[in-house]
Amino acid sequence: KPGLMMDRPLLISGILEHAAAQYGAVEVVSRETHGPLHRSSYSEVARRSKKLAHALQALGLEAGQAVGSIAWNNHRHLEAYFAVSGSGMVLHTCNPRLHPQQLIYIINHAEDRVVLFDSTFAPLVKGIAAHCPQVQAWVCLCDADQMPGVRAGTEGVANVLCYEELIAPHSEQFEWPEFDERTAAALCYTSGTTGNPKGALYTHRAIVLNAFSGCQPNVLSLSSRDTVLPVVPMFHINAWCIPYAAPIAGSRLVLPGPRLDGASLYELMEGEHVTVSAGVPTIWLALIQHVQQHGLRFTTMKRTAVGGSAMPQALIEQYDALGVEVRHGWGMTETTAVATISALTGAEMGLPAQARHAIVARQGRSVFGVEIKVVDEAGRTLPRDGVSQGELMVRGQWIINGYHKAEASPLVDGWFPTGDIATIDPTGIMQIRDRTKDVIKTGGEWISSIDLENAAMAHPAVAMAAVIGVKHPKWDERPLLFIVRKPGQTLEKDEILGFLAGRVAKWWVPDEVVFVDALPVGGTGKVQKAELRKQYGGIFSA
Ligand code: ADP
Repeated sequence: KPGLMMDRPLLISGILEHAAAQYGAVEVVSRETHGPLHRSSYSEVARRSKKLAHALQALGLEAGQAVGSIAWNNHRHLEAYFAVSGSGMVLHTCNPRLHPQQLIYIINHAEDRVVLFDSTFAPLVKGIAAHCPQVQAWVCLCDADQMPGVRAGTEGVANVLCYEELIAPHSEQFEWPEFDERTAAALCYTSGTTGNPKGALYTHRAIVLNAFSGCQPNVLSLSSRDTVLPVVPMFHINAWCIPYAAPIAGSRLVLPGPRLDGASLYELMEGEHVTVSAGVPTIWLALIQHVQQHGLRFTTMKRTAVGGSAMPQALIEQYDALGVEVRHGWGMTETTAVATISALTGAEMGLPAQARHAIVARQGRSVFGVEIKVVDEAGRTLPRDGVSQGELMVRGQWIINGYHKAEASPLVDGWFPTGDIATIDPTGIMQIRDRTKDVIKTGGEWISSIDLENAAMAHPAVAMAAVIGVKHPKWDERPLLFIVRKPGQTLEKDEILGFLAGRVAKWWVPDEVVFVDALPVGGTGKVQKAELRKQYGGIFSA
């Protein structure tokens, strides 16, 4: 028997209209690509999004067509988030850190008709434009007075337009179309470490529900009393949907533009009274180093969501000591944004600090809307005992059920296989032990590279650590440890191995340590282990 409730579609345009009407004066602060801070508000974002929606239609674009973006977190990118999806088109956010060949591939695969870009990426556009024949206009997200430099940087590219000139003539009145909430709204490709990138095509429904979830007390806990700074890029996985969640909650939104170093982030957090943030561990590492080096404190920051790769417990402790609660989340391109998060329960809050930090170092409980399980190689569900480990499977309201323009379904019995190896404990807490492709098998046993990295990161002289499995004549594979020392530290092999011996099983202790100045970091802030394997994979076979 059908119930008697209205069936209103969950649309992204509805988020913007809500924010403009209820929180119109709430500020959106944005670091411009050329440096200064720009201040606008949700009502201004709404007005300008409507101008952009008109402008895209005037360029001949229609519902269903794709608009690419190669841009930082800034107010014009935010306007595109709403204008493109709101008018029924698909916003294809491109990760500028992809290899140019991959960028060309995804722009063509997505069939982007227009590409919006920040002036930083003018040289990139110049390099790829000739290979993207279906792009009819490249629009630089800037003022007219920035254009001479942009034109010089994109010399030879036909039809380079200026965003402000493009939207200027158009009306601030625009009726957002109403359509099915299952319509495609945004597109993001995986970084494609193996094979070509694959596209996750998000629906309006998935994004709105995920953004709703992001506001929840156990997730980001966003409200109209918060100022939120998404450091996580709007070019990858929709900045974990914070650009949609903040206007739902009426939170002040601070966008960092291209300045993502520790000093700039600290200055922005303090200057703009940021209370909540989000980003990958490498960002929090750089920030804490800056704060510690200069003996600084956080005066308004309360919590931050961290994910994308494992957040070391040592770092969680350091933020806790500075009064910033870390919420460790797990998700992937295919899960729209956060799928699990480690927000402590009341009972867990009562535990001693170390026990609390150990819980946060795991990836947490699945949020409402997402179900998780771990399975063995035969696909059998494993017990939630915190020990049995297998591939993590997810299903839910914002998990993909197929890749863009791909025939074969990735699903297994209706669940999405993540390629991550995990355990789930009796209280529902999931822990990522490794990615299937990073697993180290030694003498038939299994070593978690993440656990080893965490143990090494606990040494006070270690800035960063990575572990890979390397072919070994006797043991099949053995772990190889890479260490980046903190500035001025003289840590040597024997000391770090001795330190590890006290913390992990003896046979886990790596055979060799390579000290490096920096680790190769990929487009989404993760250590590129494939790169390390390529360079050092032969070290034990020689
Ligand atoms: P890629 O890294 O291939 O570009 P994504 O950006 O979608 O793809 O990253 C998703 C992957 O990142 C997950 O499958 C998982 O391996 C890893 N990941 C994400 N969050 C965490 C976390 N909190 N701890 C450990 N690994 C994580």
